[in-house]
Amino acid sequence: MTVKPGPAVKLYTRYPVSSVLLYNGTTIAHFVLGGLGIILGYDSWVGLILGLVYLVFAFVEMYVLMPVEVCPDCVYYRLENSLCISGLNVISRKVARNGDPKNFANRAKGTFCPNNLYIAALVIPVIAVIPSFFISFSWAVLVIFLAVVGLLLFRFFYLFGNVACVHCRAKAVCPNAQKMKMS
Ligand code: SF4
Repeated sequence: MTVKPGPAVKLYTRYPVSSVLLYNGTTIAHFVLGGLGIILGYDSWVGLILGLVYLVFAFVEMYVLMPVEVCPDCVYYRLENSLCISGLNVISRKVARNGDPKNFANRAKGTFCPNNLYIAALVIPVIAVIPSFFISFSWAVLVIFLAVVGLLLFRFFYLFGNVACVHCRAKAVCPNAQKMKMS
């Protein structure tokens, strides 16, 4: 049997601005709604503290730790006139020194590696909000909860495979793409 090759996937040196906005819009909406869900779900100073701690953790993990720890080892840091899906390579060039592409896979190594923190920032609000329904049920919090779950599913089942990783020049060496069998 002859296997016909599928249509070639275009790799982007510069992602379209619409893709960068979609990726960051999805990320920011996820964090903000997640934090809001925790704050409203527990509706007390406990919820306020938990929600604020979550928001700080999520934004620092994504927009501080990534450009400092991960991006310097990524091919987009070195590619001339490049714009990666998150746009963080542009920030990283300003704030961090050039890394080593051989270390790029380290993003997935260790319990508190950047990849695990990234997943934690996405999953924490989903897990954290569930107990609040048994303490004081709120339809508004349920809507926020469903929106966060929707954003999570959208990211994993559409964004990565159709907008982000599929067009990424780092996918051959990226542990995330390898896990999703896209490398
Ligand atoms: S393959 Fe996906 S996760 Fe890996 S660097 Fe590219 S966009 Fe990021």
